[in-house]
Amino acid sequence: MNPIQSVNFLSPEEIATRELEEVSKTKLPNLSDIFKDRELRLRQLAAGHAMRDFLIFTADLSSAQHKALNDEGFNKKQSVATRCPSVEQLQASAQKGLPPLELQNVVLDSVWIDDLNFILDDVLKHLASEAATRRVIQELRGFTPEVLNQQAQRLLSGVMLGLNLGTAPLIASALQVYWARVASATAQLYPNKIFPQIADATVCPCCGSKPVASINTVGADVGTSRYLHCSLCQTKWHMTRIKCTHCESTKGVAYQSLVESSAQTARNVEPATTANEAAVSVETCDECHHYLKIVNMAKDYQVEPVADDLATVTLDLLISDAGYTRSGINLMLLFGPPADDARRDESDPKGSFDRSLKK
Ligand SMILES: [Zn+2]
Ligand SMILES: [Zn+2]
Repeated sequence: MNPIQSVNFLSPEEIATRELEEVSKTKLPNLSDIFKDRELRLRQLAAGHAMRDFLIFTADLSSAQHKALNDEGFNKKQSVATRCPSVEQLQASAQKGLPPLELQNVVLDSVWIDDLNFILDDVLKHLASEAATRRVIQELRGFTPEVLNQQAQRLLSGVMLGLNLGTAPLIASALQVYWARVASATAQLYPNKIFPQIADATVCPCCGSKPVASINTVGADVGTSRYLHCSLCQTKWHMTRIKCTHCESTKGVAYQSLVESSAQTARNVEPATTANEAAVSVETCDECHHYLKIVNMAKDYQVEPVADDLATVTLDLLISDAGYTRSGINLMLLFGPPADDARRDESDPKGSFDRSLKK
């Protein structure tokens, strides 16, 4: 079985000259459509997929996230209660080359827990009475605010020891909503201070989290460029193509994707996971042996980094078997064993969260 195909590509210099001269380096999420678009993509990918139930559940979760940010009464209440970092905190982070909305600058108060409860209430409406997720939500409902904050801290710091993996996606969904709202509010409050240059180009310039995947964009507002998509606050930041998103090397970068030859389609490639594989490839680096997926709008305009990543776990398995370790993180699907850091690791400026699907 050889379902991996290397793809020829232009040199970094050629790519750089082809990219738009004026590329907006960082893009905050549009709160009115980011989670709605994800929901729609997940429902599209779920049809006939081996992970259909999981993708549908994640679509319901995305729908609840959208409502939390767009329900007029609820979001207004949450926005009023949102606490942005002080200008002194932003200046201190900027001086150190750190992102403005790192965990230490964002208050984990009752506002994010209200987001969580809103999301849980909405998700419950869509769950069958016998669904196992009901028990997970029931367990989560029993957590005290202290335990919830402890779980959130572990999730945000990449400390998987003691992290409840069953409840983690639900907690993460609320944290994504919370961080996206704080980022939007902070950008409105300090329009010139939200995105200073930070020292580490491989983490989100807004919140310091690792990307979930890259997206090759096409369109009037984003041009033809490569952006990394934040796993937490949903910000996109520009990174030149043909450059490793983990170690920033331009040597040894290659692109691989699933191939559907007729023989493989018939015998080897799971048909249920082929819906979006043409639009999803993997950027591997032979300098650091990490990889990150790239979703390509030119192949499928509807691609969405989180959704398309979840629907291509087969690709993770194959690339992992080829000896590469995943550098990105998808908070909707975490794997053990314990990893040491999903965000910044001070001992390793490139961060060191590794997620391997190898058995
Ligand atoms: Zn971010
Ligand atoms: Zn690398």
